[in-house]
Amino acid sequence: MENLQTGEGAKASVGPLLEWYRKNQRDLPWRHTTDPYKIWISEIMLQQTRVDTVIQYYRRFLERFGTLRELAGASAQDVLAVWKGLGYYSRALNLQKAAQQVVERYDGVFPRDYEVLRQLPGIGDYTAGAIASIAFNQPYPAVDGNVLRVICRLEGSEDDISQSRTKKRVADIVCPIIPKDHAGEFTQAMMELGALVCIPLAPLCGHCPVQSFCAAYRTGRQNELPVKKKKEAPRIVPCWVAVLRENGKIFLEFRKNDRLLGQLWGLPIVEKKDSRSPAQLLEEKYGLRLKNARKLGSASHVFSHQIWKMDVFTFALAEPMPHSDVLHWVEEEELERYAVPTAFQRVLKLLHSDNGWEQLEISLE
Ligand code: SF4
Repeated sequence: MENLQTGEGAKASVGPLLEWYRKNQRDLPWRHTTDPYKIWISEIMLQQTRVDTVIQYYRRFLERFGTLRELAGASAQDVLAVWKGLGYYSRALNLQKAAQQVVERYDGVFPRDYEVLRQLPGIGDYTAGAIASIAFNQPYPAVDGNVLRVICRLEGSEDDISQSRTKKRVADIVCPIIPKDHAGEFTQAMMELGALVCIPLAPLCGHCPVQSFCAAYRTGRQNELPVKKKKEAPRIVPCWVAVLRENGKIFLEFRKNDRLLGQLWGLPIVEKKDSRSPAQLLEEKYGLRLKNARKLGSASHVFSHQIWKMDVFTFALAEPMPHSDVLHWVEEEELERYAVPTAFQRVLKLLHSDNGWEQLEISLE
């Protein structure tokens, strides 16, 4: 069994890789700038999200928050509303917190120092390396899933890429081979090779510029590498969701302190337990006294670690709504202004066929 030690294949690949990238790179909006603010926004958006999806969000986000100071001065709700549909909302909240820190501590000037970048909310090794190399041309590695895969194949490594020590070893291999004066180009070239040629399933070795240096190809293991231990399957969470509407308004909960989808707006939701009815559980959690339950339909939403299986009911209030700082009636026509995540947008979609909702435009990214 080989493991990551030498880096010979990676080292020999640098020249051909850069040459290939210069001819074959995709025309992406964040490749037209070296503004660290814009590079940062793109890198955060690209985490866990496909390039095609990110392009429109990137443009929209920069139209709304064109500078770091504008982002720092916005409300969290405004930032979340623009982010709505991209998922992993803590990314948006961290972006705003980091922007505020840069304004307060560095007078709004984006830090160049890798270690300082690492201290900002939401910026880990990968993002700090991407910003340092792409925006400031500094020789720091940015090891994402693409780079892990490419290096493990080039080196013929059977190290498990879900382990953080493998990421560390890959970073140790990449760091010394980053070409002086072309750090940003090298970082993007590695990622681009992983995205376009050295793809996860059935890599296109016949079109690969570094094939002659690749241990996986040489030994016929390109479809077996890299090795990745299977993750645990996400937990299924059966839930009830309540839809309440009155006089052109709909009832929303501001999920102030929830660990999942915190600081966003949702519909009242409870996890199914024993034999208690949805009305009982909703009363226990929210103090709502409900009547006239009617099943509207079902929807599900997949998070990285759990899947919500939601049975959706409409209700009427049996008693006036209790006082609460997180439960609100919201004008249906103004719903678009609220940061309602995709999980609840799926539920709202069920209402499209219910009376009165046909005119409401709800984005279902
Ligand atoms: Fe990936 Fe194949 Fe190129 Fe090796 S030869 S780096 S496996 S695409």
